[in-house]
Amino acid sequence: MKTVWEKYQDSMMQECFQFNESYKQFISACKTERECVKEGVRLAKAAGYTDIQEYIAGRKEAKPGEKIYAVNMEKDLCLFVLGKKPLSEGMNILGAHIDSPRLDIKQKPLYEDHGLVLMDTHYYGGVKKYQWVALPMALHGVVFKKDGTRVDLCIGEDPKDPVVGISDLLIHLSADQMKKTAATVVEGEDLNVLVGSIPTASKEEKESDRVKSAILKLLKEQYDIEEEDFISAELEIVPAGEARDYGLDRSMVIGYGHDDRVCAYTSLMATLQIEMPQRTACCILVDKEEVGSNGATGMHSRFFENMVAELMNCTEDYSELKLRRALAASKMLSSDVSAGYDPNYPSVNEMKNTAFLGMGICFNKYTGSRGKSGCNDANPELIAELRACMEEAEVQFQTAELGRVDQGGGGTIAYILANMNMQVIDAGIAVQNMHAPWEVVSKADVYEAYRAYAAFLSKIQ
Ligand code: MN
Ligand code: MN
Repeated sequence: MKTVWEKYQDSMMQECFQFNESYKQFISACKTERECVKEGVRLAKAAGYTDIQEYIAGRKEAKPGEKIYAVNMEKDLCLFVLGKKPLSEGMNILGAHIDSPRLDIKQKPLYEDHGLVLMDTHYYGGVKKYQWVALPMALHGVVFKKDGTRVDLCIGEDPKDPVVGISDLLIHLSADQMKKTAATVVEGEDLNVLVGSIPTASKEEKESDRVKSAILKLLKEQYDIEEEDFISAELEIVPAGEARDYGLDRSMVIGYGHDDRVCAYTSLMATLQIEMPQRTACCILVDKEEVGSNGATGMHSRFFENMVAELMNCTEDYSELKLRRALAASKMLSSDVSAGYDPNYPSVNEMKNTAFLGMGICFNKYTGSRGKSGCNDANPELIAELRACMEEAEVQFQTAELGRVDQGGGGTIAYILANMNMQVIDAGIAVQNMHAPWEVVSKADVYEAYRAYAAFLSKIQ
């Protein structure tokens, strides 16, 4: 099979590179769920979308072609473009997650040790802990104060900003450390972020806490945060800096959080360009996939179902039965990244069923571990439909498994929607270094995924 690159004519090549410029901007600016939702809403509004609350309140009429968005706790975003057919006949749904592996600041983070002040973290998602040390890191998030006011933080992204980071042991003194296995060479409890080293001039402070007190003073003066405010904060330590072109030929992008913002962005863009579809088009961007999709903002939450119910209430006579029919008649691409073939580690793959960079969007019939445990096994009927759809739209796709049988495995949000009785398949973009601070994707796959999602929304019946 040829790579996508060999098929692109000049104009497609240009469109592909242009699309990736916007994508780089998106992941450089959006490094938390809340930042993704905020930017998603901004883009949606610019494309003519209206908040679902306007329809619920009866201030706007929900008719075919209407573009509607719904936000859940600033961490989930749903977009709908109402189709000509009633909702109860089903939707075409794109779903991706907008949370990525990172280090969360603990509720009581600050301490001083011999003149250095650090913040304790708790890692989020599956990470090789040793990859997260000795790198410039940024602090993103939000602090809610007792009086209800909020402070939004983003420190370390402007080139003039300071960055923070986690130290690694110097090689000269690593005799004992180098004998450890990779799982323990850097321990979770030791992922402490260094944030300061100048003691306060005030002689009133205890000798042992003088740097900490200076940092607290700085936090108060610059951000109006006190030590107790960390209790009601959501602060994430993420790799600092922008996504960049990767490879001498600029064919790839290296960035933080491709998993799964690369599928989120392409799904979002595909949805924003849809006008008056036959079946209602829907895009769901959710939180908490990396930790099991639980909680009010994970895919297991009732939020999505609730929003479809609200929408039905605005468009046709709502009934529980009709809602269930709408969900069961829907079809979904659960868009999440695949493991891209890595020439440095060929042994983890079975080559016929491996995803390659530059070969187009990847359909995974199933993921899961061992004997497909925990997987959503897509129906061949749906896959046949997609094959025809992709061929008609001249989109290149590949199929893959997540590595050799019994090598490991993983899951996505696919099964959660499938539990609502709809047809779902995993579809996404091949990634190198998945879950490392800096991940790599092919620009060709990013663009083909966008084209595939657009074709799915408009053509699948
Ligand atoms: Mn993922
Ligand atoms: Mn992941």
